[in-house]
Amino acid sequence: MTTSPSPSVVVIGGGILGASTAAHLSRSGAQVTLVTAGALADGASGRSIAWLNSSGARTPEYHYLRLIAMERYRTWRLRRPESASYLRFDGALKWAGPDESFRETFAFERSGGYDALWLSREDVARFAPDVDVDAVADEGAIYNPAEGWVNLPDLIAALIAEAESAGARVLTGVGEARVDVQDGVAMGVVLADGTRLAADRVVLATGPAVPAHLAALGVTVPDATPAAFVLFTDPVDLEVRTVLNTPRVAVRPTPDGRLVLDADWAEKSVLVGDDGSITVPEESVQGLLDEASRVLAGNPTLTASRVGAGFKPIPGDGEPVVGAVPGIDGLSVLFTHSGATLGLILGELVAEEIITGAPSPVLSAFRLDRFAAETEGRSDGVATGAWEPVAQQ
Ligand SMILES: Cc1cc2nc3c(=O)[nH]c(=O)nc-3n(C[C@H](O)[C@H](O)[C@H](O)COP(=O)(O)OP(=O)(O)OC[C@H]3O[C@@H](n4cnc5c(N)ncnc54)[C@H](O)[C@@H]3O)c2cc1C
Repeated sequence: MTTSPSPSVVVIGGGILGASTAAHLSRSGAQVTLVTAGALADGASGRSIAWLNSSGARTPEYHYLRLIAMERYRTWRLRRPESASYLRFDGALKWAGPDESFRETFAFERSGGYDALWLSREDVARFAPDVDVDAVADEGAIYNPAEGWVNLPDLIAALIAEAESAGARVLTGVGEARVDVQDGVAMGVVLADGTRLAADRVVLATGPAVPAHLAALGVTVPDATPAAFVLFTDPVDLEVRTVLNTPRVAVRPTPDGRLVLDADWAEKSVLVGDDGSITVPEESVQGLLDEASRVLAGNPTLTASRVGAGFKPIPGDGEPVVGAVPGIDGLSVLFTHSGATLGLILGELVAEEIITGAPSPVLSAFRLDRFAAETEGRSDGVATGAWEPVAQQ
């Protein structure tokens, strides 16, 4: 397809991936319209632990992507000092459960030169004074000094402000938009009220809804999206700086002095109705508060402010799905877990691909067509490969 230096692009989705792509496109001179069903950040981006990391074992390509993703955050922080309220690199601590060891994880991280320290319980008190050392595993814990967290609604607001000041239009509350495909070409977007927005290119960044949106266009993407929730506490009288990933609870602070909590066991406890509604058991809410109290210094009494429940976007093999959609000219997609970590870099690279027409080598391992071999031969197009949903943040 031909490329124009200032193509018109409609981005569907007001989460971190849509906002980042819109901001990077606008900065590069594209004529951008971002449309989103409700309010900005009302999806997964508004209920994320948003730990910035490349922790644990990964493919080299994915590790590299995450490393440059974190680098982009550091640059963002340096260039925009006001972001210190919502973007922090105060380190993260993780330790293993009773029948596990994190020694191999530590060895793996060190073998790749990833910034990781093995801490004894005594050391933990020095590096992470916000932690109750009695809760730490006997073997000790891994401390990753370069990791941190971001409050995505604040980042999205900043990205949207930059996009708008570069000329982008942002339409919230448009309801369910869909991609207008004619003869294999994305011609624009149709809003819920029937309004058509013509465009040279369309970007689909609708988070957990991506697989259904692509399926409606005849494109299959293996999907491991679970229901999930985070719990926001009331403000706490304790300075928590470190992101904690412990066997029974993950914890990070918020700009307004609260904590955000989640855990795999709590995620598995949610009930999903036939209509897609999600119910979070009261025991899971109290259980998260108790677990968080147990790992924090002084074991503070924590109270719940609100639950953020919804679907957590995860492609079938756990790795990002990014870039041009095969078979539909002019359509790009972003569908990933760890979208907090990857938000700035994926928006930048997809925008660059759209502006230049040149595929980014960094994204070559993350194309949608990597699943083609596994879906071939099935008349229903459903993927059959052995994709294990990946436990990761
Ligand atoms: C519990 C939990 C914990 C997580 N922890 C981490 C972590 O520690 N580290 C990390 O890096 N990542 C983490 N993630 C993942 C990260 O938050 C997500 O990958 C990221 O927020 C996804 O952003 P998105 O823009 O793709 O989707 P979303 O934020 O869901 O945004 C999609 C937007 O599209 C809109 N939309 C949907 N359909 C339509 C339509 N038809 N028309 C118009 N608009 C539409 C929605 O309303 C929504 O606003 C976590 C996620 C969850 C849920």
